Amino acid sequence: MPHHVKHTQGPCETEAVGAELAGRLTPGDVVLVSGELGSGKTTFVRGACRALGVEGPVTSPTFTIGQLLGDSPQIAHLDLYRLGSLAGEDPALLEDYLTPDRVAFVEWPGVAEPRLERVAARVTLEHAGGDRRRITVA
Ligand code: ADP
Ligand code: MG
Repeated sequence: MPHHVKHTQGPCETEAVGAELAGRLTPGDVVLVSGELGSGKTTFVRGACRALGVEGPVTSPTFTIGQLLGDSPQIAHLDLYRLGSLAGEDPALLEDYLTPDRVAFVEWPGVAEPRLERVAARVTLEHAGGDRRRITVA
């Protein structure tokens, strides 16, 4: 995946960057999405999901670590913010979501990163003042 940096001026532009990445993904790919709270991770994932055919709302899962969206491909959207350490967690927790037929987006991937295979892209979002964001896709 070529390394590139994009600057966006609002959520629609961040969704568009997500959509652009989505066009290069294939089932089994895992995308790590990092950045502080409010930096636009879920917004980015929403844009990617739209481009992959998801029609309903795309929000961060709240009571589970992940949710499944759409079909062909099915999308696994994980948010590991509250997971803390993975030590002591059942490894199947992640494996239940990450299957070869799905495209996966993982917000707050930190704790799980050593266990994630087939990482196709690492996305980092940073606040750049007001509604501006700096997005790195590597
Ligand atoms: P995160 O998942 O990183 O916590 P969200 O995507 O849920 O972030 O929220 C980002 C918030 O910032 C949304 O309210 C969104 O409308 C707003 N926002 C403003 N400008 C941008 C931008 N350029 N890109 C993404 N989100 C933006
Ligand atoms: Mg989020």
